[in-house]
Amino acid sequence: MISLEKRDGVARIGKLEIDGRKFEVPLMIDFLERYEFEDLIGSMDFGIAPYVLRDIDPKRFEVLKGKDKNFIIATGLSVLSPRKLVETLIKLRNDSFKPLYTPALATPKNLPLLVYFGVDIVDNILPIVKAYEGIYMLENCEFELKSLKSLPCNCEICRNHSVKDLDEELIAKHNTAVMKRQIKLIKEQIRSENLRNFVEAHAKFDPELTAMLRIGDENPEFFKRYCAVFKKSKLTPTSEDSFSRYEVFTFFERAIDAYKPKSEVLLILPCSARKPYMLSRSHSKIRSYLGDLLSGVEEIIVSSPLVVPRVFELTYPAINYDVPVTGYWSGDEIRFVAEKLAKFIEKGRFDVIIAHVEGGYKKVVESLGIDVIFTAEGEVTSQKSLNNLRKALECVAKRDFDLYLSIFEHMLRYQFGIELSELGDNLKVKGRYPNLELFKGKDRIARIDVNYGMLDVYMPLAKLMLEKNAYTVRIDNFEPKGMIFAVGVKEADERIRPNDIVVFYNDELIGVGRAIMTGIEMVEMDRGYAIEVKRKL
Ligand SMILES: [Zn+2]
Repeated sequence: MISLEKRDGVARIGKLEIDGRKFEVPLMIDFLERYEFEDLIGSMDFGIAPYVLRDIDPKRFEVLKGKDKNFIIATGLSVLSPRKLVETLIKLRNDSFKPLYTPALATPKNLPLLVYFGVDIVDNILPIVKAYEGIYMLENCEFELKSLKSLPCNCEICRNHSVKDLDEELIAKHNTAVMKRQIKLIKEQIRSENLRNFVEAHAKFDPELTAMLRIGDENPEFFKRYCAVFKKSKLTPTSEDSFSRYEVFTFFERAIDAYKPKSEVLLILPCSARKPYMLSRSHSKIRSYLGDLLSGVEEIIVSSPLVVPRVFELTYPAINYDVPVTGYWSGDEIRFVAEKLAKFIEKGRFDVIIAHVEGGYKKVVESLGIDVIFTAEGEVTSQKSLNNLRKALECVAKRDFDLYLSIFEHMLRYQFGIELSELGDNLKVKGRYPNLELFKGKDRIARIDVNYGMLDVYMPLAKLMLEKNAYTVRIDNFEPKGMIFAVGVKEADERIRPNDIVVFYNDELIGVGRAIMTGIEMVEMDRGYAIEVKRKL
């Protein structure tokens, strides 16, 4: 019924077809233009009792609830507290893939959060009702019309009227125009995979929205069902609300699990503004000064909120994030980062730990309470600091390993749960950092896709993935071109999330593509884009 085109987390863009008429979700049903939506509204079974009755009187609710075949229609949610509302939306979204409509709930202000939690269809009932109470709405705030001196909007209504001649009907039209603008903006945020960054910033306008965001983050399992592990958008953690976001949670979950340090010597370094870190001015200076002394040394880069072993610096979101740098670290920040750093350190058997860090970074390392050699004095790139670091490294015995191969080894484990050793020997890394490629003899096996911070897959690896049933999709007997639609999918690995690289096959391996939806959706939905074909055998 919904034909999915793009996912960004739980939010989605898709097409609806009702009696031959097409609509795009996220959709606002405009009650000022009823004729346009008459068929759609007419086809809906709203039931007699509001959805909120479910918690108060479940038996009566079962009898009186709406029993729509095509939509989940949840009425009366505007009376709920932020916690109850989020819990209800999560429950509704988990119950079904059907389009979710929440009548008389949306305003321009809460709309981004509603879509973020999976609401597909809203309406302008509240913006109309509020207009008749004299409330003039904007994307981020609301005013009593009579408190305004001029109209801070350039919709058609506001361009052609002044505060004085705006009546209730005109305010309703303006409020509706703002809703439409907000929907358009949200769609673009979904297309650019940026909705969470947007929602996080937007939530600051209202304590209730901030509460909803935080309550949502208490449920990472909900987001895990839909959220991409690799994204083309930049992660911008700007406050401590970002620490609990799904991308950060997933990075630590996977990276801590996949990290297998090879050396007994660990060097801890501070992050850099430029990513990947290795290409930054500070890291290049340190690396060129130390030269071969660094080979055989494990490195972990401390940032906030990310902590990144060097072998994961090309993995999303480590490859593409930006944090505000002030030099000030809060107590919570130090505790959060130290806890993650400790988990990575526990994965190794380090005899020597050298920390070439200053300021807040040093506080993080000190709070671990373990034996560490500190080498920085003032700037980490000062001559004095670099000399100290050189001396410390000259005194330790190291086990040599190939850093670039180790990067592929870790990315394979992180992305597919596959071991590099399963690809056999004769493996070699070619290319110029960070655009590295893994070869086996003359065959290209994998390539680092720096846009998504992930591995792209070529045939020898695709064959191994099929053997191991990792990120595979069985399709019907047809010749796939450009896009594979959900209707053509027979089976799919349940681990698949949007943007994942998958291999598709029927009797035999056919090719490699990028998932548009989750593996479960590919199987359960009968419409929409499932896989974008990248290459065929
Ligand atoms: Zn306006």
